[in-house]
Amino acid sequence: MFTSLKGRSVIVTGASKGIGRGIARRFGSVGCGVLVVSRERATASTVAAEIRGAGGIAHPFAADVSRQSDMEAMAKFALEQFGGIDILCANAGIFPEAKLGQMTEADFDAVIGTNLKGTFLSVSACLPAMKAKRFGRIVLTSSITGPVTGLPGWSHYGASKAGQLGFMRTAAIELAMHGITVNAVLPGNVVTEGLTALGDEYIRGMAASVPMRRLGSVDDIANAALFFATEEAGYITAQSLIIDGGQILPESLAAVDG
Ligand code: NAP
Repeated sequence: MFTSLKGRSVIVTGASKGIGRGIARRFGSVGCGVLVVSRERATASTVAAEIRGAGGIAHPFAADVSRQSDMEAMAKFALEQFGGIDILCANAGIFPEAKLGQMTEADFDAVIGTNLKGTFLSVSACLPAMKAKRFGRIVLTSSITGPVTGLPGWSHYGASKAGQLGFMRTAAIELAMHGITVNAVLPGNVVTEGLTALGDEYIRGMAASVPMRRLGSVDDIANAALFFATEEAGYITAQSLIIDGGQILPESLAAVDG
């Protein structure tokens, strides 16, 4: 049995949809105060209302993770609402497809700006509050794509997701003395609005390559994020947890069938 997280405060970026929404709802269900962050206030408000409707505590906040001023305003608002920031789930991310040759500088900058710079800016904004309490749990949403696998059309994305892990390793050393851990969840293919937008063919192909014969659910990822946030995970830092139903394991297509 893990120590209750009731009363802890958590910021979840990219929480209006998909994995972030799942993480926000999961932390809300265990009694954390949740700041639901996305660029669109209306969708963030809907998720915050869902959490409150289930008996939890949540506020929406509109912010773009690629903008330093937005991230500072987010941390300030969380401090005002909750009196501290215990947990940051830096989850916001985009995954537009573009093969090399067609990929523009703007495509590359957009993905790195949101996924990698957004990680740096959101973490940096929360540090003063975490250091003041000598406690912090930072959970990054990375991916198998980049750190472990390659996927044509997503070289910029893979670079951003591998970059998050490079950032994590040094951040974990710098922050260890402040009681702050930094870990990452590495989802395989998870059913979300963003993934569904990639189309049926993509989804079918991915599901067929997973030994467990199903795509991941947002709860699969949320449970792993929750674990990293527990008291009991306090001696774990700079670790990556792959949650992919075994997708990265088979050496060949035939191997998927066992
Ligand atoms: P999604 O369904 O498209 O949701 C993305 C969320 O991020 C939305 O809430 C979106 O809200 C927010 N967002 C996007 N850009 C933002 C920005 N600049 N600032 C603030 N919020 C922003 O995506 P998802 O599938 O849940 O993916 C979430 C994370 O998991 C991403 O980091 C992704 O790389 C990672 N991941 C996903 C999968 C998967 O299979 N789904 C696999 C591996 C890793 P707004 O548009 O309102 O801002």
